[in-house]
Amino acid sequence: MPFAEKKLIERIRRLAPEGRSLVKGIGDDCAVLRVPPGHDLLVTTDFTIEKVHFRRDWHPPEWVGRRCLTRGLSDIAAMGGEPRAAFLSLAVAGDVPQKWVNRFLKGLLTLAQEFKVPLAGGDTAQSITGIQADIVVVGSVPRGKAILRSGAKPGEGIYVTGELGGSAANLARLAKSKRESQRRSQREFQPGSQRAGGKVSLPEPRVAVGQILLRRGLASAMIDLSDGLSTDLGHICQESGVGAEIEADAIPRAWLGTEKNKVALDLALHGGDDYELLFTSPLSVPPKIAGVRVTRIGRTLRSSGMRSGVTLIGIDIDGKRQSLKAAGWEHFKGNS
Ligand SMILES: [Mg+2]
Repeated sequence: MPFAEKKLIERIRRLAPEGRSLVKGIGDDCAVLRVPPGHDLLVTTDFTIEKVHFRRDWHPPEWVGRRCLTRGLSDIAAMGGEPRAAFLSLAVAGDVPQKWVNRFLKGLLTLAQEFKVPLAGGDTAQSITGIQADIVVVGSVPRGKAILRSGAKPGEGIYVTGELGGSAANLARLAKSKRESQRRSQREFQPGSQRAGGKVSLPEPRVAVGQILLRRGLASAMIDLSDGLSTDLGHICQESGVGAEIEADAIPRAWLGTEKNKVALDLALHGGDDYELLFTSPLSVPPKIAGVRVTRIGRTLRSSGMRSGVTLIGIDIDGKRQSLKAAGWEHFKGNS
């Protein structure tokens, strides 16, 4: 094992939080986890790749690390589960500074601490080019109770937690300021113009909300919003065999920083990285769960009359009903 790799693993070992389910973490051939009796195991895996999901010249390393684990925790939340352990495989090219890796780990492990999820293992390697991180998160739910995407029936309410479009708006703003500072620095050398142009934040994965929805039997189907409302609602429709109708006016849009205006409807509909929960329910749902706002944005419909495999999502904009096409955020394809 190269010295740098050994040092990295030691660092992770030192910083990783302890977890109740962890019998043996880093330092053996396998991690040993104990799942409570009467529970099912949840496993989710997710890639974070440089130039696909983030750019080193735009995103602070802490943000990249935090996003990596946020995605895994958010998937566990979307099943109503309890996260138990995380595993990280990290491949980094030789020209990536050690400082970048340290700051990446700091972002990831800060979130791990917040949620008391141990980093129980993983792998490191040298990549040919750039940075690739793969996160695996293991969780548990009471046996047979995981909230699936396939449980929605026609005539149910469609609900969303928090506010949408904030991450996409931040990214758009960051891209704009980066391009402007690049243009400026081409004209004249201004060292100050190279600093990050805006704050890039991420919402908390909604683990507590997911668990309460499961415990109270409130959600018939659920998904986390990682690719954007239009895309992710499409997944519920597809898996449940229902249609959906949402109201543009009902969609809770994020505020733009300290400015007193909300993000554009397009960003709330199609922006990614929101990590809020989208669920359906036949029951009445309280407007706040675990301190998080919950909003009814529409209802599920019978999907009859539609071609098989195609689900229709209608959206009501200014009283006019139109169909909503899935247009999830394609990170750096065409909009960078
Ligand atoms: Mg998901």
